[in-house]
Amino acid sequence: MEKKEFKAESKRLLDMMINSIYTHNEIFLRELISNASDATDKLYYNALQNGGAGLNRDDLPIEILPDKAARTLTITDKGCGMTRDELENNLGIIANSGSFAFKKEHDLGSDVDIIGQFGVGFYSAFMVAKKIVVVSKSVDDPQAWRWESEGADGYTIDTADKSDNGTEITLYLKDSTEDENYDQYLETYTLRNLIKKYSDYIRYPITMDIEKSRDWEEGEEHGEDQQYATYIDHETINSMIPVWKKTKAELGEKEYEEFYKAKFNDYEDPARCIHQNVEGAVTYTALMFVPARAPFNYYSKDYEKGLQLYSNGVMIMEKCADLLPDYFSFVKGLVDSPDLSLNISREMLQHDRQLKAIAASLEKKIKSDLLNMQKNDREKYEAFFKNFGLQIKLGIYSSYGMKKDLLQDLLVYYSSSEKKPVTLDEYVGRMKESQKYIYYACGESTAKLDMLPQTELLRDKGFEILYLTDEPDEFVLKSMHDYKEKEFRSVSDADLDMEDDGEKEEFKKTAEDNKSLFDFMKEHLGDSVKEVRLSNRLKSHPVCLTSDGAISLEMEKVLNAMPNNTEKIKAERVLEINANHPIFAALTKAYAEDKDKAAKLTDILFAQASLIEGIGVDDPVAYANAVCSLLAE
Ligand code: ADP
Repeated sequence: MEKKEFKAESKRLLDMMINSIYTHNEIFLRELISNASDATDKLYYNALQNGGAGLNRDDLPIEILPDKAARTLTITDKGCGMTRDELENNLGIIANSGSFAFKKEHDLGSDVDIIGQFGVGFYSAFMVAKKIVVVSKSVDDPQAWRWESEGADGYTIDTADKSDNGTEITLYLKDSTEDENYDQYLETYTLRNLIKKYSDYIRYPITMDIEKSRDWEEGEEHGEDQQYATYIDHETINSMIPVWKKTKAELGEKEYEEFYKAKFNDYEDPARCIHQNVEGAVTYTALMFVPARAPFNYYSKDYEKGLQLYSNGVMIMEKCADLLPDYFSFVKGLVDSPDLSLNISREMLQHDRQLKAIAASLEKKIKSDLLNMQKNDREKYEAFFKNFGLQIKLGIYSSYGMKKDLLQDLLVYYSSSEKKPVTLDEYVGRMKESQKYIYYACGESTAKLDMLPQTELLRDKGFEILYLTDEPDEFVLKSMHDYKEKEFRSVSDADLDMEDDGEKEEFKKTAEDNKSLFDFMKEHLGDSVKEVRLSNRLKSHPVCLTSDGAISLEMEKVLNAMPNNTEKIKAERVLEINANHPIFAALTKAYAEDKDKAAKLTDILFAQASLIEGIGVDDPVAYANAVCSLLAE
């Protein structure tokens, strides 16, 4: 019989596929099963259209038949089958091979997983088979045909004996090597896992004979060493109905939760289930979940984001990272879209556009759902934010504020006045008429911030302060700059603008009156501080340390704690003194009468301000001795 050559383009693709050491060669089974399913669909819908009642999906199984002795794997369907011409046209060429053209045009090299992402159909079987025999009988032809090929050098077509409609594809598996185990595709265990993984929601039963064992029945004869009787069970492996194809009304909360736990290996119910059906420019169904707890590796490099991607119930990709932005990387779930076909003839670029459109729509949906939770289930939202808020903050920071509009309303920070996390919108809604800024304080814990001298007067005057306790917090607010045109301002900032005009006048006068004292103190402290000045933010505390310039004391701590930071960063320190504190009177007295004592007091006050800030003192012994010498006076 004459051997026919594959069309040139097909030949190149075949070569590429056969010769690339391809990590996902298991997808061949998915491809053959979805072809079988498509062929069965054709038959089923034709029958429906021709009024052919009585066809039942359950009677149109796709069978998987591994044969260990012959080292073959056969996939059969009862679908529409192929005529001789169809065999030749469908399997002999790859029509409009979109992926291939794309790959060639863009010279993407062999490491780009286009095959794995979008499927190449029938040809993928050559990744595992050295020879493929297709026996098919079309509904339109009384004659059955046999197509046979050993890969790139061509194929033959001949008549065959087959009376039922449908197609039977037999793969003669390649010999296993050290690197590749092809024999695994003869194991029912592996095959079952692959079917579950990729083809669980195919609408026809995928059946396979599975050897099982049972206890011996009474009186049944068996050898001493045979503990169990074995029997063959003809099992349907796939569950057939995708949960997400049911309506929300059909699905109770329990069913969503059970599905999530089983599918994503979580033992806890999800915090949130999002079921979305979209029809229009893009059509898809998404089923997404927000876990109740951050996975243990969530904030590590090991964590892989992504949603499962299905095309009409057939999984195309286990984790499609492009569907989720990093700031929503905690979302688990899947997307099923008929717009994404396994079909290679579709243009790769078009897929890409569809995918982008879906991703954009998902992003909107996730955000609106989170806002909904924030509004209607605050307790749950707070727990969510504890788990994943950091990721959202990093989203704002790492985009240099570009994602501000998208993400800012998701932020919540502990409020000094409400004693619970509040949104920026709530904060701004409560701002005093005269209030210019959104005040914040940074520190280790809300309890410590409550005791911070810098927050006392602000709180006393009825200003609300946001307490920032996550390391990146201040960087995030700085990258946002403002919220609804209200600038953020640290309680340590030089200008808090919280006094009325009279207070401002008085403050200015006291500052001027004591200028020489402050100059003296600055001189004494040398490079340790940039300035010593009168404080307008202290109430009952004597001193505090603040900073001048772009780097705050909190940022200094965070930056210097980073492992790869070799050059220490230093904020410009400013020592502030409370003129209403008794120590100030002692200081002015010492300055007038005993400069040595004034210097000693300056050292102690600077050390105390540093301690309050959590920075520590350079020489604790000198500090302790200075305090003791004053106590002993
Ligand atoms: P795709 O399925 O992406 O179009 P394939 O290479 O997988 O590409 O298959 C090419 C064509 O061969 C299919 O479009 C279909 O017409 C035909 N075909 C493949 N498998 C079968 C089958 N089991 N039964 C009937 N036709 C099939």
